[in-house]
Amino acid sequence: MPVTVIIGSQWGDEGKGKVVDLLSSGVDVVARYQGGANAGHTICWEDRTFVLHLVPSGIFHDGVTCVIGNGVVIDPVALMKEIDTIKQLGFEVDGRLLISHNAHLIMPYHKRIEAAIEQARDAGAIGTTGRGIGPAYVDKFARSGVRVVDLLDRDVLRAKLTRSINEKNEVLKKVYGADTLNVDDMIEEYIEFDKRIDPYVTDTTQYLNGALREGKRVLAEGAQGSLLDVDFGTYPFVTSSHPSAGGCCTGLGVPPTAIDRVMAIVKAYSTRVGNGPFPTELEDETGNALRKVGDEFGATTGRPRRCGWLDLVALRYTATINGFTELAITKLDVLTGLPRLAVCTGYRYGGREHTRFPSDLKTLSSVEPVYEYLDGWDEDVTNVSRIEDLPANARAYLDFIEAYLGTPIRLVSTGPKRSQTILAGLETA
Ligand code: GDP
Repeated sequence: MPVTVIIGSQWGDEGKGKVVDLLSSGVDVVARYQGGANAGHTICWEDRTFVLHLVPSGIFHDGVTCVIGNGVVIDPVALMKEIDTIKQLGFEVDGRLLISHNAHLIMPYHKRIEAAIEQARDAGAIGTTGRGIGPAYVDKFARSGVRVVDLLDRDVLRAKLTRSINEKNEVLKKVYGADTLNVDDMIEEYIEFDKRIDPYVTDTTQYLNGALREGKRVLAEGAQGSLLDVDFGTYPFVTSSHPSAGGCCTGLGVPPTAIDRVMAIVKAYSTRVGNGPFPTELEDETGNALRKVGDEFGATTGRPRRCGWLDLVALRYTATINGFTELAITKLDVLTGLPRLAVCTGYRYGGREHTRFPSDLKTLSSVEPVYEYLDGWDEDVTNVSRIEDLPANARAYLDFIEAYLGTPIRLVSTGPKRSQTILAGLETA
């Protein structure tokens, strides 16, 4: 049985947490394939809200096994805190959470280096979350990272950490004038962590491929969004990993041929956190209204998100990279009450209209969005349970998206709660 990948199709914060939570009830395994504790997936039950940073949202569903894949970078402190909180909420974690022995660890020096770099860049800051994720990926690719498997052998761990910490202390001290770290304290801390993580660690690639052979249903969960992909996003204002569908293969070790569905999570408008080009940004009353009604503040950082109209040029680009087979439109309710909705269908630059998403930042920063306008609706959509019961103008808005992207909409989210969801030909259990 093949793999379904859930992708953020924009700049992240599309509402993936809710959709993954909904779809988890119908699968056997939910796996995270990239990123770290910078992702904040919000799960909202009828009366409670919980934000997950590392553990896949499937943990809230009995019988679902959750995998943190090799492509994820793990902050031990954040992970342990999250496991404790999930247990306190009354959910079983032991025996249901598997952590890849090949995943890399975020070390305290990664956080310190990231903070020092951001401070040194000042106005040109990329807007990282300060959680050490970027520097951990840098070490991974520089082949000097510490992996979960390194925890298993105390001698190897001691040798690796001593070398790394001494090296990083030099950088912290000499390049950034920042405080250094104590080698022995850190080794003790990570030995303690090893004792706690040990029961969860396994070869998750073998586990996942075995599960697929047995016909189990696997949901692969991307964090952030495709426009933040380190290769395909608005570089350098991107994340340090691959949120797009390709990241699923390298971040879990499942073959591309095992993926048969790629569901795009599309927020009904656009948002972006931090710096970087954003062609449809609204720095006006409408933008403020979207932020307020949509509660567009970071789940992890609390930072206000920049808001703007839906950008179909950008979406067609991410559709191309990911091969979307279906769409889930979220936060449709946030648009209620706006008299007129704009949808970006082209970019004007160099005296011409284009439908291609430019890869160079300078062009992207200067494009003038070309909009089509659609009438809005005033009716409350938060309790609508069938597409055909949505206001005609809301249906027209969805039809427009579907037609432009040539991909069917299978789910529409009209509020944060599980019950506020319209399924269009999609089974969740
Ligand atoms: P993720 O990182 O893609 O999972 O997105 P976040 O969890 O950071 O942000 C999504 C936010 O929107 C969360 O607070 C959700 O509870 C909320 N949300 C999800 N779907 C809807 C929706 O359809 N309507 C509204 N109003 N809120 C939603």
